[in-house]
Amino acid sequence: MTSTPSSHPQKAVHSQSLTDPESFWLKAANDVHWHRHPDRAFGPSQRTRDTARHGRESDGVWFPGGQISTTFNCLDRHVYPPPTPHSPPLTPSPHTPHLPFDPSLAKRVAFRHISPLPWQTVQERTITYGDALENVQVLAGVLKSKGVGKGDVVTVYMSESIETALAILAITRIGAVFSVVFGGFASKELAKRIEDSKCKMIITSSCGLEPKGPVPYKPLVDEALRICASRHVPASGVLFQRRHGIRDHEPPAVDNSRNEWDWDEEMTLTRKGEGGRSPCWASHPVASEDPLYLLYTSGSTGNPKGVVRSAGGHAVSLRYYIEHIFGMKKDDLILTTSSFGWVVGCSYILFGPLLLGASSIIFEGKPILPDAGILWRTVSNHGVTHLFTAPTALRAVRGADPDAAFMRAAGVNLKSLRTLFLAGERSEPGIVELYGKLLRELGAPGANVNDNYWSTESGNPITALQISPAFAPLVAKPGSAGVPLPGMDVRIVDEEGKEISKAGEMGNLVLAPPLAPSALLGLWHNPAGFEKSYWDRFSGKGGWFDTGDSAYRDADGYVTICARGDDLINVAAHRLGTGLIEAVVTAHPDIVECCVVGAPDPAKGQVPFALVVVAQDHKADVKTMMKSINDHIRQEVGPIAQLGAVIATGKLPKTRSGKTLRRTIRAMVENAAEGKKDQEVPYPPTIEDKDVLAPIQASIE
Ligand code: ATP
Ligand code: MG
Repeated sequence: MTSTPSSHPQKAVHSQSLTDPESFWLKAANDVHWHRHPDRAFGPSQRTRDTARHGRESDGVWFPGGQISTTFNCLDRHVYPPPTPHSPPLTPSPHTPHLPFDPSLAKRVAFRHISPLPWQTVQERTITYGDALENVQVLAGVLKSKGVGKGDVVTVYMSESIETALAILAITRIGAVFSVVFGGFASKELAKRIEDSKCKMIITSSCGLEPKGPVPYKPLVDEALRICASRHVPASGVLFQRRHGIRDHEPPAVDNSRNEWDWDEEMTLTRKGEGGRSPCWASHPVASEDPLYLLYTSGSTGNPKGVVRSAGGHAVSLRYYIEHIFGMKKDDLILTTSSFGWVVGCSYILFGPLLLGASSIIFEGKPILPDAGILWRTVSNHGVTHLFTAPTALRAVRGADPDAAFMRAAGVNLKSLRTLFLAGERSEPGIVELYGKLLRELGAPGANVNDNYWSTESGNPITALQISPAFAPLVAKPGSAGVPLPGMDVRIVDEEGKEISKAGEMGNLVLAPPLAPSALLGLWHNPAGFEKSYWDRFSGKGGWFDTGDSAYRDADGYVTICARGDDLINVAAHRLGTGLIEAVVTAHPDIVECCVVGAPDPAKGQVPFALVVVAQDHKADVKTMMKSINDHIRQEVGPIAQLGAVIATGKLPKTRSGKTLRRTIRAMVENAAEGKKDQEVPYPPTIEDKDVLAPIQASIE
């Protein structure tokens, strides 16, 4: 029996993390290796910090005085018992000798690369912890030989491959700061991020793989460098990883005289110790409060912001979350269908599983290519225990395989699968219920779907159902994203910053400082932007951190995310979250997914407008659908929320991370209402496929 939410142990753990963060996080800190153990969990910075560049001078830092190497914690410590043969002398710590060391880990798989796209001749490849460490030592030596050192930024512009993970780990090994820019971003966007980060070097692969074929990256990098040449030149040049074995892709030559370096050649020279090169045997620790990486946000709501993560808080909280929230064990295998360039991928393809010593699948493909069974076959063939994907991916799978025939196919065994995590966007109850039911039938005993809410800024989920081995999880409430997690002091407040205590009443979801250890330190070289984006709104009104999302809590403390703050619509003076209406629309059997925005209305101010993707085998026409959806909305939400119009489209416009471009759709609807139907609409550079815009624009009346 699962206990009621108020007495559930997850509540007690959460409370303890907030009432006594010092002992809570110091205990968690004992599960990572410190080159110097921190003096306390949270407190004033121990040294003159460059806070003015990224964050707030007045704030404390996590694990002050601590010295840590994230790469050491991801690789070395699993391969060699500490101290490693090559590590610098460690300050003896009374806290870490107990860290378990498992000699079999050197031979265990760290990453399994799966690339089911037809251009890849080798569709599966693995690397062990031992081999990953050797490669990272050599690659870190390559970076050093090119003049990259502690605190320098290195931009990583690659796709989902083992080499990308190695590049990231090599950068952190030497105390440099990595900035992953999603491979395939247009040159202009790459240039913006190169310039903003002032990176010293770029590591890129010769191509990425998209459904339409290999996309050569070198011309994109060359063009980006040309764009920013007058303002910033990465002094250490570009390291090219030439991808072989890909059909229709001939890796281009690199030109050393132009500061271009060939990954394979440099690795060989470094292994041989030529020209003063040598592998970087030891991991270089940095201060806990030093930046580990910067990651630009998706940009769904405006210009991308360079979120800075600190080394110590990141390692401790990810290590804690992967075991105590995600319920992973060392012999488990996680498949996260995200990208290293998004926070979910960065945290849970790479760092979470490696900090634990578990295995991770790097998936370079699409969830419905070659067909909607690829995820299930991957789970079945490799014994995946944890699957983490986005609701949009699951909707695509359901759209292409509504009867879940691929999940039930002969030879597909999903018994290893314990949890299906969903994040990135709101998950409507329909999809959570459907896959929850399928998992209970086909997955491991007690398998569940776990909607978890987070952001680039938070670095880890803010709310979810905790799957601790220590207790049975809370009962899922489809449509809600679970309850707040350790370190996340979630409040729902009104415009004046006053807390809303009434269950079910929607308000702004804010976080009370200090922010969790995984959360951002600030914005890269942009303290003013940090204040403006997150703190100004409630300055003097509680001092909350603004997430930009609106939500409500139910009587049991479960949080439902309704919409982004600016996606609320106002119908005849009623504020409605578009997410709630979307959940009802997608409950219609013929609708695969939808986006609801407010359309201007002379009588009511705004009325909901729905852009829908209908199932391939839909039965009703759009008009009939609208009628039955409105009947349903009347019952579920109230007559006020009835749709003013429904338009069908083959595809919704999305960011590359799978978020629906509501602002763009809203602009189309508003333009049409003003008789400016053909006016160009704004869309973010992260758009996945801009060709979907024109037909939608044409169909909106
Ligand atoms: P930008 O801040 O640049 O506009 P973004 O907010 O889309 O971009 P991310 O940090 O990738 O960039 O996304 C975080 C946002 O995604 C959250 O603020 C929230 O709106 C949404 N989100 C993430 N997970 C969930 C979830 N489980 N349920 C509802 N919304 C979610
Ligand atoms: Mg955001």
